[in-house]
Amino acid sequence: MGVLLLLVDGLGLGPEDPERNPLLVAEMPCLYGLFEGHPHLFVEREQALWGAGAVSVVTDAVMGVPGLPQSASGQTSILAGENAQALLGYHLNGKPNDALARVLRQRGIFGAVRDAGRRGEFINAFRPSSLERMAKGTYVPSATTVSAMAGGVRLRTFEDLARGEAVYNDITNESVADGERGGIEVITPDLAGRRAAALARLSDFTLFEYFLTDLAGHSRSRLAALLALERLDRFIGAVISRLDPRRDTVVVCSDHGNIEDLGVRTHTRNPVGTIVWGLGHEDAVRIRSLVDIKPFVLELVLRRSRCEGRSR
Ligand SMILES: [Zn+2]
Repeated sequence: MGVLLLLVDGLGLGPEDPERNPLLVAEMPCLYGLFEGHPHLFVEREQALWGAGAVSVVTDAVMGVPGLPQSASGQTSILAGENAQALLGYHLNGKPNDALARVLRQRGIFGAVRDAGRRGEFINAFRPSSLERMAKGTYVPSATTVSAMAGGVRLRTFEDLARGEAVYNDITNESVADGERGGIEVITPDLAGRRAAALARLSDFTLFEYFLTDLAGHSRSRLAALLALERLDRFIGAVISRLDPRRDTVVVCSDHGNIEDLGVRTHTRNPVGTIVWGLGHEDAVRIRSLVDIKPFVLELVLRRSRCEGRSR
């Protein structure tokens, strides 16, 4: 494989206060383990924190625009490598508007991967009802979805999920409604991580999006925050255990802060941490803001020879 990009909604670098910042108290043996338990992994201190074959880089998610950063503009900035919030003049919540959708279609990462003759996959599973509404044009797709569709990527279904060939956005399938289950079982984060790694090995670029972190931040529930973070950590641990750091790269990024400060119900203007593990992680120090993630990822994807992609 090439690069697995894990887009984690609402995961910032927060205050050094365990009462407010659940990242300081959550059980996260994988991510903390990569950085030898460094107490500032989720606190804004050093610009770059070096770990075992990994680096975490402080990343600006505000990018000079007043107000609180939001998902539609932040994710567009990540996926298109353009300062979407500056383009609009404000941070846009939720789903991309026409202007951002145009940016994603013209410069989104999936289109760039395809144009370079490489294979990109978006491994989140979509509910049948969402796919139906999307086909009818009554469902506004997220930035990740617009980018994937513009790159000719097939959206994965609940049939894929039942076969273990997709991952649901909650990682464990717990929030899949009973009526939609059809062979879909609740699984451990570990199994979901192994499935994600297996899928990523088949492609040059793979995207997975997780947003329980953002929901937990909005709820200000400490319990929900710890559950969301610990589930994510176990998932990432399983992903990494199945990949080869000499040829694979995992990038964990976020569109804006939220969960790192349970003192507020809203997003935050905190920077986010971009954690890069595996091949090419040394070069991640050049990431300064969300717009630097796409070129970094794309360079790694293009660095792989076509033959390697075909032979595996
Ligand atoms: Zn949010």
